[in-house]
Amino acid sequence: MKFHILTLFPEMVLQGLHTSIIGRAAEKGLIGIDAVNIRDYTQERHGRVDDYPYGGGAGMLIQAQPVYDAYQAVAAGGKPRTVYMTPQGTPFTQKMAEELAKEEELVILCGHYEGIDERVLEEIVTDRVSIGDYVLTGGELPAMVLVDAVSRLVPGVLSNESSAETESFYNDLLEYPQYSRPEIWHEKKVPSVLLSGNHRDIAKWRLARSEERTAAVRPDLYAKYRQKQWTIARLSNRKREHIHMMELLRRGNGELLYGKGENVIAYERTGEICLMTAVSPQDGEKMVRFLGELNPRISWFVVCQEFLAKQLGEMFPLRACEPCIQACYTRREPLPVRHGDIRPLGEEALEYLCAHYCQEDSGATQEISLEDSREYLSERVRSGWMFGAYVEGKLAGFIGLHDEGSMGMLYVEETFRGRGLGAALESYLINRLRERDWTPFCQIYQDNSVSLALQEKLGLYLSGPVIRWLEVRDCHLEVCRFQADR
Ligand code: SAM
Repeated sequence: MKFHILTLFPEMVLQGLHTSIIGRAAEKGLIGIDAVNIRDYTQERHGRVDDYPYGGGAGMLIQAQPVYDAYQAVAAGGKPRTVYMTPQGTPFTQKMAEELAKEEELVILCGHYEGIDERVLEEIVTDRVSIGDYVLTGGELPAMVLVDAVSRLVPGVLSNESSAETESFYNDLLEYPQYSRPEIWHEKKVPSVLLSGNHRDIAKWRLARSEERTAAVRPDLYAKYRQKQWTIARLSNRKREHIHMMELLRRGNGELLYGKGENVIAYERTGEICLMTAVSPQDGEKMVRFLGELNPRISWFVVCQEFLAKQLGEMFPLRACEPCIQACYTRREPLPVRHGDIRPLGEEALEYLCAHYCQEDSGATQEISLEDSREYLSERVRSGWMFGAYVEGKLAGFIGLHDEGSMGMLYVEETFRGRGLGAALESYLINRLRERDWTPFCQIYQDNSVSLALQEKLGLYLSGPVIRWLEVRDCHLEVCRFQADR
């Protein structure tokens, strides 16, 4: 992940960010931090970059020209995501950090004085972000806050892979209290359960403390958490049909847009995927109307009922893909992995993935460029959820996790088929997901008998053909997600 910070004080951001965990991540090349001095791009004499605001008023403004030229120097003809730090922006949250961490490159613009000429902001800025309802003298501290929060979510930056997933705000909860040595300090004892070695009891205790703490300190967050939990419980009445929605919410990857009993709309922001289930056509109508008013960006709908597909089709320009069967692994025991060399894939495997994750059999009809597929695969690799099987040191196949949480993209090279590599890859991924206490699931076209047989062989439970992916036409598509299970 590369950050380009446009600022009048590059030394301030570089000094601040080149220490401790973020500094080490930069040294290791996991992130890149490049601070560009806006002043270097001014065409004015004496390095001047500011002027009086038209119409009068206090203070000075940074002019458009040097900001634009500094931006052009880093954008190199492209249109990278560009965040302007401003008290007038959307309040920065952990969710936003998670979303930004999926980018490959970010430009961050720091204002100073009274701000920046609006015209250049209109041309280059894609997001306006505030770090809180107070006014600072410049955007450097806000930029550092953003870089820190985003960087620690980049795989490999934190030494303990899962630590970001137990922290405050993950899944709308604040973190539980923690203790270190000695066992007794100022006559206060460490809670005995933490010394028990029983991981289930420890996890239960921690969850209870997180809930207590969140309820006491952040009732707003707690109310959101309760509603999500309640919705997941209702969805579990028909688990095989709803596992994709339950897992999206449980893993903290999706927001609940609508939740009334078993009438639910969940949303995955990165892929712009809207997952819906409804009890009756009347409920469906209400939900479709609700969505029309809310108007979120949607590239795909995933619905569990045919009537919902029809109702959405009357409101949005859609193309329906073949219904899919959903398979989920709910057994307690891990699966044997009958292949010794399966590993997480890094960027070096990207060419191989692009060559074999091709567009034939795609559920999408719209043109998906190689660049879009590459971008999706690269983001999936960076998420740490793409794995490869190697034979004699050479990559022979792969599997991964889609952005909405389903397993897919399973591919085994022709010459290595029939040796159980596909089963080994899926078993490996299932075990990795189970380590997180997640329920592994995937979606398969009903006519894909090879994949269905594999799911049954591995002990996954199958639903009926209930999952319908609906492609929103005339919009930019990022993903070609269906060849996975073909
Ligand atoms: N006149 C501006 C206004 O009222 O919105 C405030 C300008 S502030 C003095 C100067 C710069 O500091 C801003 O352009 C912005 O980049 C940064 N800044 C100040 N407070 C911020 C905050 N809470 N969040 C993000 N950026 C902030």
